[in-house]
Amino acid sequence: MEETKNTCIVCKRNEEEVPLIIMKYKGQELRICPQHVPVLIHDPQKLVGLVEGAEGFTAG
Ligand SMILES: [Zn+2]
Repeated sequence: MEETKNTCIVCKRNEEEVPLIIMKYKGQELRICPQHVPVLIHDPQKLVGLVEGAEGFTAG
């Protein structure tokens, strides 16, 4: 089972609970709920440890 893949990377809620936005990164699909999109934009370092390669989000 790959159920964890179908959840928000931050809060782990699934698409039955919240709408999820699908992103693609390094060949994998990441899902994030609208509530946590600001984290991705403003605070991506918080995703380090949650997402493999999140360090790269802040590059540049
Ligand atoms: Zn979330």
